[in-house]
Amino acid sequence: MNITEKLINTHELVLIGRDDAVGYHGIIAIHSTALGPAVGGTRFWNYDSEEEALTDALRLSHGMTYKSALAGVPLGGGKSIIIGNHSTRNRTALLRAHGRFVDTLNGRYVTAEDVGTSPADLEIVRLETQHVAGLIGRSGDPSPFTAGGVFRAIQASNQFLWRTSELSGLIVAIQGCGNVGYHLAKLLHGSGVRLIVSDVNSENLSRVVDEFGAEAVAPNEIFSVQAEVFAPCALGGVLNDETIPQLKVQIVAGSANNQLLEERHGAMLRNSSILYAPDYVANVGGVLHGCTELLGWSDEQAQAKIVAIYDTLLKIFQSAEEEGITPNEAADRLAEERLKQSERPEDRN
Ligand code: NAD
Repeated sequence: MNITEKLINTHELVLIGRDDAVGYHGIIAIHSTALGPAVGGTRFWNYDSEEEALTDALRLSHGMTYKSALAGVPLGGGKSIIIGNHSTRNRTALLRAHGRFVDTLNGRYVTAEDVGTSPADLEIVRLETQHVAGLIGRSGDPSPFTAGGVFRAIQASNQFLWRTSELSGLIVAIQGCGNVGYHLAKLLHGSGVRLIVSDVNSENLSRVVDEFGAEAVAPNEIFSVQAEVFAPCALGGVLNDETIPQLKVQIVAGSANNQLLEERHGAMLRNSSILYAPDYVANVGGVLHGCTELLGWSDEQAQAKIVAIYDTLLKIFQSAEEEGITPNEAADRLAEERLKQSERPEDRN
């Protein structure tokens, strides 16, 4: 059984949608609704094949379930994908077709923004379905909040390794200066951190160089720079057999989903004495902020939960150390315990 087949077996529902009239080809994956409706963004990306997109959707929706469970949020995990070039001219038609596809699930899946989609795009999706979060004028762009959570994750990692959450004087290497990378760079710069950055998009790269005095390096050089922290804020799978041996950092903490190409890369990081802040623990800030819209939380409630990412991570690092496992294994165990608790009849309402 390959990884895609294994992941499909753990999912509640996986749908492939097509609307040939507008050239739409999409996927909705619902991993779990045990804790609540499945929430996860729409990724608009030009995959080489449907299979590649499907694997990505499955891994991302699985991660969303664990993310919400670990953060103690009554939401499930899902993800959707529009397969195609996100700068296509019939973007509006594709987003509307996606909205109709989402609507067929009657709220079992709620979408939001992700790589390749913006709050403005979600307004278009919203023309076809009400099951959308992250709209303009409501909770809006989650990226600053995701960045705020990653910042807390970096502080917690620093605290665990060096017994201080003071970041001044550190060097942080950020891969990807898009929505989250930009806001993370801003927070780190404001805390006296020196930045080394890379991006394949020259506009996004220059913004961070110009505004925060960051040093730019080529995309393939970011893995081997001398720094204390590596913050992956682009795409997944960046921690692998090729990149881990190049790393000279002591901490990896960033926003990208599915940073480990495979589970075993968590052990590879540990064997290289690199502390890994599990991605779905570090990047939950946007979901927490989205709860102001989805669950009626106040801004203060959401912010307090984002601040608490620090304590959650310290607990995970501690239990990983005590049990001789990796932080990603410790995080998975904690999330699975929460999911199991939700299966107990007395916890159902
Ligand atoms: P984004 O599309 O705004 O930014 C991604 C940036 O990465 C872009 O500037 C892109 O050019 C750059 N990039 C792509 N490939 C690269 C490469 N090989 N090397 C260097 N740069 C590269 O996306 P975002 O919203 O900032 O999200 C970044 C990551 O964080 C994604 O993996 C996303 O799934 C994850 N994430 C985002 C949020 C959120 O609130 N936006 C929440 C949770 C997780």
